[in-house]
Amino acid sequence: MTTEYTNYIDGEWVASESGETFDVTNPANSDEVVSRHPSSTEADVQTAIDAAVAAQDEWGDTPGPSRGAILREAGELLAARKEEATETLVREEGKTRSEAGGEVQRAIDIFYYYAEKCRDLGGTVKSPSGTDKELYTKREPLGTVALITPWNYPIAIPAWKLAPALAAGNSVVLKPASQAPNSARILLEVLDEAGLPDGAANLVTGSGSTIGTPLAESEDIDGLSFTGSTAVGTAVARAASEDLTRVQCEMGGKNPTVVMPSADIEEAADIISVGAFGTTGQSCTATSRAIVHEDVYDEFVDAIVEAAESLSVGPGLDDPGMGPHVSDGELSSTLEYVDIATSEGATLETGGGKPAGDEYEGGYYVEPTVFSDVSNDMRIAQEEVFGPVLAVIPATDFDDALDTANETDYGLSASIITQDLTEADRFVNEIEAGVAKVNEKTTGLELHVPFGGYKDSSTNTYREQGDAGLDFFTSVKTVYRNF
Ligand code: NAP
Repeated sequence: MTTEYTNYIDGEWVASESGETFDVTNPANSDEVVSRHPSSTEADVQTAIDAAVAAQDEWGDTPGPSRGAILREAGELLAARKEEATETLVREEGKTRSEAGGEVQRAIDIFYYYAEKCRDLGGTVKSPSGTDKELYTKREPLGTVALITPWNYPIAIPAWKLAPALAAGNSVVLKPASQAPNSARILLEVLDEAGLPDGAANLVTGSGSTIGTPLAESEDIDGLSFTGSTAVGTAVARAASEDLTRVQCEMGGKNPTVVMPSADIEEAADIISVGAFGTTGQSCTATSRAIVHEDVYDEFVDAIVEAAESLSVGPGLDDPGMGPHVSDGELSSTLEYVDIATSEGATLETGGGKPAGDEYEGGYYVEPTVFSDVSNDMRIAQEEVFGPVLAVIPATDFDDALDTANETDYGLSASIITQDLTEADRFVNEIEAGVAKVNEKTTGLELHVPFGGYKDSSTNTYREQGDAGLDFFTSVKTVYRNF
């Protein structure tokens, strides 16, 4: 019996006025329907926006420590439900139990972090031009904000938008991805139980084009924070900007790791394996290009093939090395990129297909895949595959590697593996990416530092997370006081 969930609007759990629903299935076993959610309409979205607008003044006027107490309590309630939230996440998105548990813990930590920030929203005092005067800035809530989130981090990303938005005193309408909306539902449940006032946060599920578009176009929305693909984000940013709504879009990536001859190649392969195949390659920061100095190219290819082939693939609940793709569509897209890469002349070193065996029949499984002999102008090196597919590209020297790393429309995360300080410094300074790492994988973020991309990976308006997460959700007022 499939559990049917509802929207959360104005403090009530309510069905869509359409009466229609959609099913979410288990990526490890597509016959298993794991939850059912409302196919909401534009009218549902407007009801949620109206509730949020009505609630905003009271929530914005709630003292920071009281807002913080609610966020902290929500974090504690989520911690108490960590096991359940982890299983929910695995069942709808497919990632491994370890990956999902880490993600739920991240959501908990985000609530704790922004609970403290409620006491300290910032502001600066400056010296005025004249005596008997004061000159300072204060931060005020932006107002009512819309949050549109993707399926690949279905609890962490809603949390890293919801928590700073609420911490700053905004009211919120959240539209989670249709492929994995059930994890976000748990966040609204814990906020409700923690005592969040009715209407301060609302959840509406349904198709992006039906309910995301009216959210982006609404004149009642003061800020729109979107994470998803560059194609959808670009359209959303245009729609929201039409009436000068503040907008932030964090989007796709084509993230490189450069490997230089001074690197320990076994270690480099281990780092890149986690970056490329972790979360089934379905991270915006996933390593999709290894740009390897020609002196260590063959050695690296052997090592990364060995790492890929050592990964077990299976249902996320069994906690294998790698879970399935989230959907048939994502699986088909990855298999199509394998064909494209092969036809463009890349060499398939390992993987490239569905794993053999009856146990893989019902799920969206694919093997960890490595291509060598990739040139940077091939589609496999330029387009976001969003699957466990690594393109290994040769480089003649550091400058060639850096140029190759930068020759992409994206600029989200990038790393270099080297023991040479000059190379590390030049990489950090010259790489065109919002996240630059040395001797690290491109994936994995800390929650208290800014996160966002360069180039087509971001609207580059505001960063997320840390203090930067609060900047988007607040307006700065400059106060001149003359006594
Ligand atoms: P997506 O297809 O762009 O969808 C993202 C969200 O937008 C979903 O909630 C979707 O709803 C909604 N949406 C779809 N069409 C819309 C429209 N016309 N108007 C308004 N909203 C609309 O992305 P995804 O497939 O969920 O996620 C994968 C992408 O996200 C990848 O490109 C990945 O790189 C990127 N990503 C980026 C970051 C980052 O921080 N840079 C983090 C994670 C993921 P439906 O689900 O109902 O279609």
